[in-house]
Amino acid sequence: MKVLKFGGTSVGSIESLLLVKEIVEACEEQVIVVVSAMSGVTNELLAIVDEALKHRHADYTSRLHKLLKRHQSTIEAVVPREAQFQCSNAVESFVNDNLQPLAEMLDVNTQLDGSMVEIIRNAVVCHGEVLSSAIVSCMIAGAEPHFAPNFIKTCITGDAMVLDWKNTEELVKKEFVGSTVPVHVVQGFIASDFATGMKTTLGRGGSDYTAAIIAAVLGARQLEIWTDVDGFYDSDPRTNDQAKLIPEMTYEQAQKLCDAGAKVIYPPTIAPVAVRHIPVLVKNTFNASAPGTLIN
Ligand code: ADP
Ligand code: ASP
Ligand code: MG
Repeated sequence: MKVLKFGGTSVGSIESLLLVKEIVEACEEQVIVVVSAMSGVTNELLAIVDEALKHRHADYTSRLHKLLKRHQSTIEAVVPREAQFQCSNAVESFVNDNLQPLAEMLDVNTQLDGSMVEIIRNAVVCHGEVLSSAIVSCMIAGAEPHFAPNFIKTCITGDAMVLDWKNTEELVKKEFVGSTVPVHVVQGFIASDFATGMKTTLGRGGSDYTAAIIAAVLGARQLEIWTDVDGFYDSDPRTNDQAKLIPEMTYEQAQKLCDAGAKVIYPPTIAPVAVRHIPVLVKNTFNASAPGTLIN
């Protein structure tokens, strides 16, 4: 079994989603597919929260409408015809019945304290991955959808919100062990507080971490991080055209580069897979035949 994580650009357009479908369907073993929100959507959801807090009803409503249209036009292009109606209805309901009321709550209730605003902000921001995963699970025949907050759990330690390893490990096993379904689809990034059930996140860029947690708990054969560059470089290939691709590196080398700001992998991702010696392959969704970078 392997875990494949697709980032925002990989699920961000019709063309890229069709590549994701090809990559997943070519797998000859069981796969757990972890997806980010479509590119730009997490920022858009945060902007919606800000506008609601400023009582700009027309602005956030129009953003919500555009968000819905973007997902619906993607569904029309990538989801098989027989599943389109159900998928489109689900997406419409997430936006109109969940997101719109949450934004209105922020707009109308001027007395909300900071912690309540934070709770609603998290509930809103979780929808990016909920929407993208709805599309990916409907796009791939036979794929089983999962809801990450049911098994990716956080807790408060001191002032910080951290992964609740013990409960996550138990719940991830319960969710997946023994399943023979060939393709599972899970939202990256999103979680819930074990004690209260409130939606939480693993931090910006956290979908990589979700994938590593699942791979580690289940002892996956490999973790694959599918992104928009050919692999791990010695510096950001988008800002340095002299950047050199690193074909293979150790977990320690990868951790150092991540800690130094290499955005290609979210820093907490490395430790759980390093401890269990699970190889990590960084691959380009848009250039799948390139060998990528192997971290082991
Ligand atoms: P995803 O949405 O797939 O998670 P990210 O934007 O989080 O993608 O990470 C991929 C980006 O990381 C690349 O587009 C690249 O610009 C940037 N990046 C920064 N440093 C590096 C590096 N050392 N090697 C590769 N990519 C890097
Ligand atoms: N969608 C989240 C973000 O934009 C998580 C991720 O993409 O990994 O930060
Ligand atoms: Mg990322």
